[in-house]
Amino acid sequence: MTRSLLMIPGPVEVDSQVLEAMARPVVGHTSPGFVETFGACLDGLRDVFAAPDGQPFVIAGSGTLAMEIAVANIVEPGDRAVVVETGYFSARMADILRRHGAQVDMVHAQAGHVPDLAEVEAALAHGAKVLTVTHVDTSTGVLAPVKELAALARKHGALIVVDGVCAVGGQEFRQAEWDVDVCLTASQKALAVPPGLALVTARPRALETFQARKTPVASYYADWTLWLPIMQAYQARKPAYFATPAVSLVTALNESVKHINAEGMEARWARHTRLSAAFKAGVEALGIRQVPVNESVRAVTLTTMYYPEGVDSTLLGRISAAGVVVAGGLHPAIAAKSFRVGHMGVDGIGEVLRTLSAIEQGLGVKTGAGVAAAQARWVQQ
Ligand code: PMP
Repeated sequence: MTRSLLMIPGPVEVDSQVLEAMARPVVGHTSPGFVETFGACLDGLRDVFAAPDGQPFVIAGSGTLAMEIAVANIVEPGDRAVVVETGYFSARMADILRRHGAQVDMVHAQAGHVPDLAEVEAALAHGAKVLTVTHVDTSTGVLAPVKELAALARKHGALIVVDGVCAVGGQEFRQAEWDVDVCLTASQKALAVPPGLALVTARPRALETFQARKTPVASYYADWTLWLPIMQAYQARKPAYFATPAVSLVTALNESVKHINAEGMEARWARHTRLSAAFKAGVEALGIRQVPVNESVRAVTLTTMYYPEGVDSTLLGRISAAGVVVAGGLHPAIAAKSFRVGHMGVDGIGEVLRTLSAIEQGLGVKTGAGVAAAQARWVQQ
């Protein structure tokens, strides 16, 4: 069977050494070898999040669990939360906040746009415990200005929680320097590991807020009271148990984190920026319009696009027949009209050119214009 190239915005292609790490014999979660692996993984994640003072939590589950862990530990019933809406996943964050008793004030934007910062500030000025932002919303491909939003949160005394599921490990993000209190992600996107791990990094102000809670955390599995001693033990290279860690996935994550830190975050962000520019130049040359309204709000980890005139979602099947898997639309307002390509993790120019070639085949374009434009942009940079 010919293997397709997986270019959806998560899960993504995984390096063979990371896959090999997954396939090693299963070890006990308190064995000395695994204690070292988990400890090294947590240490390495501080560099990935650029949070030397952050406490990473790695817990079996998907990105949605990571969102719930962040909310459940910080929010208490009756707290006000401001949500910056940039797509489908901001709406999910609002649902989770409400489920944990928060009063949510959502600052809206149309698909492809970022809300006005002045409107976010006006919402914060009413008093809020937390501001939540989706760094890259995977349904729209919109990049939110996290650094600026973190400064606004600080000015108004709110904590900031960043959903970095489609960003961390690909999109420039400096958690400590930008003063972001909590950032969460999952294993299957720019960290280039199979799905199954929820990752959350909390900085001191968030942990202090958690420690000062008046009410217990409403979710048992998400409670930092139970997880914090476990993470601290593994960091101290001591065995500990609360709930069985996903040993094979953590071993794979540690392998990928080693690769990521060997590349270095600055180089990794630059590679993603360059790849994204090449891919976007390719789709522009094919006359395909992107969902984010301008370059300043376009993510580097994925590209979201409208189908060209006269084309519908049957294009996806033709791209797949050409050997590349891309994703359909997700945001309710544009789901039927849009499609998405992820270019993150271990992807290089080869994967980008192959994807553009498959899109050209799907569209019936015979000139190679998209591939040529991407290649030209790649070598120019
Ligand atoms: N937030 C964002 C920005 C996402 O892209 C996703 C997944 N596509 C999630 C949250 C939820 O993650 P999961 O599907 O792993 O639960």
